[in-house]
Formats: sequence, structure tokens, C-alpha cells
Amino acid sequence: MIDWNTIQNEAAQLLSDYIKIKSINPPGNEQQAADYLTNLLRKLGFEPQVFIPAPNRANLIARLPGNNSKKPIILYHHMDVVEADPQCWSCDPFGGEIRDGFVWGRGTLDMKCMGIMQLLALDLLQQHVPNRKRDIIFMAVSDEEAGGSFGTGWMVENHWSDIEPEYVWDEGSFGMQDLFGPTPVFMVSVAEKGSLWIKLIAHGKPGHGGMPHDENAAAILLKALDRVLTLNSKYDLHPIPKLMFQKIGSILPFPKSFLLKNIHNPFIFRLVQPTLSANTSVAAMLKDTLSLTVLRAGAKENVIPERAEATLDIRLLPNRDPELFIRNLKTLIADERIEIEIIHLSEPSSTTEVNTEFYSVLSSVLQKLVPKSITVPLLTPGATDSCYFRRKGINSYGLIPIIINPGEIARFHGIDERISLENLRMGTQIIFEVLKKLCE
Ligand SMILES: [Zn+2]
Repeated sequence: MIDWNTIQNEAAQLLSDYIKIKSINPPGNEQQAADYLTNLLRKLGFEPQVFIPAPNRANLIARLPGNNSKKPIILYHHMDVVEADPQCWSCDPFGGEIRDGFVWGRGTLDMKCMGIMQLLALDLLQQHVPNRKRDIIFMAVSDEEAGGSFGTGWMVENHWSDIEPEYVWDEGSFGMQDLFGPTPVFMVSVAEKGSLWIKLIAHGKPGHGGMPHDENAAAILLKALDRVLTLNSKYDLHPIPKLMFQKIGSILPFPKSFLLKNIHNPFIFRLVQPTLSANTSVAAMLKDTLSLTVLRAGAKENVIPERAEATLDIRLLPNRDPELFIRNLKTLIADERIEIEIIHLSEPSSTTEVNTEFYSVLSSVLQKLVPKSITVPLLTPGATDSCYFRRKGINSYGLIPIIINPGEIARFHGIDERISLENLRMGTQIIFEVLKKLCE
């Protein structure tokens, strides 16, 4: 019998100690976090391997061996966290305080919690499930918060043969309560948007501010931006959000249930759009988005600028062709004086499949342990390290298996980030049960 009370307290204590390590990225300094995990893993009988991609950075893997009749599963988490301003917090963000049934601190949700839950689940698996059909690889990486080039990107590039898995279990979302009513909805991230950053450069003619003409670069740029930004109101239902909303329809009262179950109908899609898109993160799942992020023109009050620049952060739905998107942008702008420069284009990454053993085991365990919940696939508007695995054709699933509400989510990268002890216990149990089934 597993004593879940003891596990819960152990998880809280281990997480508290982990939070005290300031692996803030930049600069990262994940080496100390890797040392901490190495010690823990050794005590549990594992032989972790640490890889050093750069001074003070580190990536770690530890393997729980199976009999290799199935390919490994990676339990992924990143050791780095974003900064936290202690002035704004009600506690020390790196104090690891345990109070009121919560562990408090930067990284409790994103995502040191997952590392601790995985580690405990791995140990339980070692103790209670003797004949395992596959290896489970515990993987702790650097640098996720800054794009992953020292972390997952580096590991995939340099040590792929050490880690090549069948599935990856990553972050990406949570079990959400009170977003679509009281029923917990476990949202499993299976795809993410691609990023395309471009600069629009308007070329005009200089002149005296007192004698306006039609070649003012700033004015040319504004007209182009006006057209380009209209694309933000062009909605498109990608297959993943379609599946997600159809499933969510099943837990809502009429008429919402009817509308969401039939969201594939173009008329109904148009009808529900204003309601759905009132939430910006939901809106971002339903279209390509464009944000004007940098604007530069002019230097003096009485001089007409000859050059003006705007940077756009564009996020494309997974099935989009960026080149085609740019061509359409040119047609829409319809002005030769505007030049388009590509600053950054993310490599395309595939969409993770949902008709797999992993997804079906995960959904059935969630259903068993949280009987009233539902599990849905999610298209994440942001980026995670899953893209590195998906580019290799690996099915990577993003879910921190805890239940939180939108108020708690606001603490993620925000102020007073925390996780309840109850969630630590439930998350560990979910990970353990899922892995147990997937090792059978
Ligand atoms: Zn994260």
C-alpha cells in the first residue's frame, strides 16, 4: 500500500528545497539545481547523468530501466524559472515557504512541481511495479524560459540517441476548474503555434514638416499597418480547438452545449466567436494573430521621416505555410514602398496525435482519479520545449496534472506563485498510475 499522506509531505518538503535554488533565467545557473536533483536521485538508487552545455548550465537524465519491449517515455521538466520581484510578493519568492496548505515560490507551478512529482512517481514505480516493459527517462533541462538552445535544443542536437523516446510528457497546460464551469477540464497540449517575427519597413522621402507630401514614411507605414492588423479579426477553426470545444460542449448546459458540439458548422462558429474570443488566450487558438510590438519613425518635430519601421510578432496556426502568409500580406498591403524583412521564423513542428496509447491511458487514469473530469486536447498559443521533440516526429503531451482555477493561473509567471499540497499529492498519483499502465 502506498501511503499518500507521507508522499504529499515529502513532495512539499522536496519542492520547498528546490524552490530555494535561484535558477533564474537569465542567466539560468541551473548547475546548482542539477546538483540538487543528482543528490536526490542517487539517494533513491538512480545513476543520473549530467551534461554541461555551457558554464553553469546543466541538463540531467536518469533512467528507470525496463525490458525494452516498448520504447522509452521521457518525463520532462525544466529547472530554470523566470525572475520574481520580492517587493511585489507576500513572501520571499525563493524562500520555499510552506503555509496554509501551499508551497509558495517562483517555480512552484512553472515547473519545479512537475520535477518533484515525476521523481516521486519514478521511485514508486521502482518499488511497486517490478516488470516494466520500457525505460522511463527523467529529464531535467536548462534554458526553457529563454528558448531552450542550451537545454532541450542542445540535448536533441547532441544526445538524441541517449534519449530517443516513444512519448514525451511535458508542461503545456493544467486541469482547469471554473474556466468552463465547475467540472475540471484537463487540457493536454498537443500542438503549438509557430512564430514569425517580421519588420515592415516603409521607404518615403524626407521633407519639411511645414510642407506635407504623400511620401511621408510614417504615414505610409500607418496605412499598411491598418490593413495588416485587420487579419486579427479573421478566424479559422483548426482541428484541435474544434475537438476541444466539441468535448467541452458535453459538460455545459443547453444552449452552450449545442453550440459547442456543433462548432464545426460555419454559421455556428461565427455565432460563438464573439463570446469565445472575449478571452484572449482562447481567441489566440482560433486564428493567426499579429501584434505590433515595436514602432520606429522620425527623429525631429519638423522633419518628415524618409524611413519608418514596425515589428510584428505573428503567431501562425500549426497548419500554416509562412511563405504563403507573407505573400498574402504583400498583396494585402499593396504598396511597393513597404519592404518586408523576416527577423525570425520558427521551424514547423508537427501536431501530436491523440489516438495513441499514451493519450488514452492518460485520459482513462484522469477519469478514474478525478471522476467528474474530462480530458481535451489543446492548441497552446505560447511555446514550450515540446516543439523540439515534435520536430523529431515524437508525440509530446503537455499537461501538469493538477487542478487549478484562472485565479491561480494568474500567479504563473506572476506574483505569489504557489501550489497546494493536495495538488502535489494528486499529481504524483496521476503520474504514477499513468506510467504504471504504460509500463504494463
Ligand atoms: Zn515552463
